[in-house]
Amino acid sequence: MRYEEFYRQSVDEPERFWGEQARLIHWDTPPRQILDQSNPPFRRWFVGGTTNLCYNAVDRHLAERGEQLALVAISSETDSTQEITYRVLYREVNRFAGILQSLDVGQGDRVVIYMPNMAEAVYAMLACARIGAIHSVVFGGFAAHNLALRIDDAEPRLLICADAGMRGGKVIPYKPLVDAALAESKAPPPHVLIVSRGLDRDMQRVGGRDVDYARLRAEHMNDEVPVTWLELNEPSYLLYTSGTTGKPKGIQRDVGGYAVAMALSIRTIFDIAPGQVMFSTSDVGWAVGHSYNVYGPLIGGATSLLYEGLPTRPDPGVWWRLCEKYRVRTMFSSPTGIRVLKKQDAAWLKKADLSSLKWLFLAGEPLDEPTAHWITDGLGVPAIDNYWQTETGWPAITLMPGLDLKPVKWGSPGLPAPGYKMKVINESTGDEAAAGEKGVLVFVPPLPPGCLTTVWRDDGRYVNSYFSHFKELLYSSLDWAIRDADGYTNILGRTDDVINVAGHRLGTREIEESVATHASVAEAAVIGMKDELKGQVPVVFATLKQGVVELPADVARAMQQCVTDQLGAVARPARIYVVNALPKTRSGKLLRRSLQALVEQRDPGDLSTLDDPGALDEVRRALERGPDQGGEEPGMLAARKT
Ligand code: ATP
Ligand code: MG
Repeated sequence: MRYEEFYRQSVDEPERFWGEQARLIHWDTPPRQILDQSNPPFRRWFVGGTTNLCYNAVDRHLAERGEQLALVAISSETDSTQEITYRVLYREVNRFAGILQSLDVGQGDRVVIYMPNMAEAVYAMLACARIGAIHSVVFGGFAAHNLALRIDDAEPRLLICADAGMRGGKVIPYKPLVDAALAESKAPPPHVLIVSRGLDRDMQRVGGRDVDYARLRAEHMNDEVPVTWLELNEPSYLLYTSGTTGKPKGIQRDVGGYAVAMALSIRTIFDIAPGQVMFSTSDVGWAVGHSYNVYGPLIGGATSLLYEGLPTRPDPGVWWRLCEKYRVRTMFSSPTGIRVLKKQDAAWLKKADLSSLKWLFLAGEPLDEPTAHWITDGLGVPAIDNYWQTETGWPAITLMPGLDLKPVKWGSPGLPAPGYKMKVINESTGDEAAAGEKGVLVFVPPLPPGCLTTVWRDDGRYVNSYFSHFKELLYSSLDWAIRDADGYTNILGRTDDVINVAGHRLGTREIEESVATHASVAEAAVIGMKDELKGQVPVVFATLKQGVVELPADVARAMQQCVTDQLGAVARPARIYVVNALPKTRSGKLLRRSLQALVEQRDPGDLSTLDDPGALDEVRRALERGPDQGGEEPGMLAARKT
């Protein structure tokens, strides 16, 4: 079917469309009503239906594809590969479910999982789903305080952790972080289940609380744990947002709607049919990891590659060799991941046989054109940008090569995914923006299946955070967007990443992109600094490409000129600092709020989502040193002139 018709049906006749899509999964009791919208902005899909994510991801495939690979867990850190068939996955998940029950975990109980990309993390997630426990995976790179915050919010019955993770060959013990988090937590669970790979030889165990997975697995070797059929209202899992803009929100998802969204998207968006191979380089701790390392491919009867390690170790060809070896059809990564490879020799992209590879999807942050071109040319497959949020759980704006591939337009993730009724709203008038006019991207309720149902234990925050911005009841994405006449949407950055210079509202991303057009600039972050006269003025922090020989001050002056030429004098950066690193979250997003705080000489606040604390020191040093360009007090200057 053509995209236009498919999409039109999904939003104009949602009950008929989603009623048909519901057949993609197994229901123990089929839904009696497809959509209940009696209490907006809440909506319930597939009312009366009962199903189970684990059954759809594992049991359902045993008859036809029991001996097919379900999961290949590869670690370039521990130098190991595990090839796991659906039958083996079924056995491991049953054992894990038996262990959970022995630790008194049952339906509705929360289980926090703090593990790197390893097979047991997937077993743990599926085992929770099997018995109706609600998992909340916390990214293994988060520090103790961040883990404690999530524990306090989720109040888990059990915490499952690895003894350690590894990054770049270095062991990072997890258990001391867990101990510190539980000491800080107001709601520590009675037990910690430790999956040890023997990486942390000095690991301490707390008697009575800590239990060992290997020992319990041996006891539960032959367990068969029946599936718990769950009603639509039951939460399947919680996942906290990255916390780029503030306190993370506990995104809550349902069971049936999510299963249908996974079954639909893996086929029509990601173009993966049963038996085919998907490789998502994401982490199980992120939304992409949940949906396209675990649930999507498995619900779709495909093979999922799970990778622990850096894209550059043992060498920058590691991902592509895996694509060759396992005949990967669709790959999913992030612009950050590709930018890491872009610093390496492009010849690495040509060394493996990539004849099976058809698509590379990239999501999570804006995909800049140079990166998109570099990877598209290097691999010879289209890079497909897709836009989503932890909240949506699957792409909201994308192209759909599994259905009908529309032309790629650089700079745009494309067209709305099925079920997403979108508008761009002019912030000041509240009316729909015209084509080419900038506004806030919103979704008209009902949100499609798979999207969040609420914020965990906080319906008020769900309504206030997302639905209280406009006179109509609309879901605000909190991102700026612009739509062209063909309906392609460009994302222009977050609504709180806007600065107001003398009454002009400027998106920080526009200035960042302008600065980055200078050939020597690798990456830039722009924030607004308080200014008595103008309200705010733009301040730029930029990193330079490797091997640049020009003086930072010269590049900075040229950057300032780029902005003046391209965006006008009003956007002219008041100060430019050239630095060696920019502060980013663990998911690779720029942490502008911490830059802002440092510039305004405030405490940078909660830095627990920060990837590399060294980047902040780098910024502090730059501030002490003074800017490479600009820096005259703009207010003073203007005062002198008058
Ligand atoms: P928090 O909501 O806690 O501040 P966060 O928004 O960073 O954290 P995520 O849900 O991981 O948490 O990120 C979603 C956001 O990432 C989107 O709202 C958007 O700003 C950005 N994003 C994702 N994909 C794209 C894309 N393809 N192009 C541009 N921006 C994107
Ligand atoms: Mg967000």
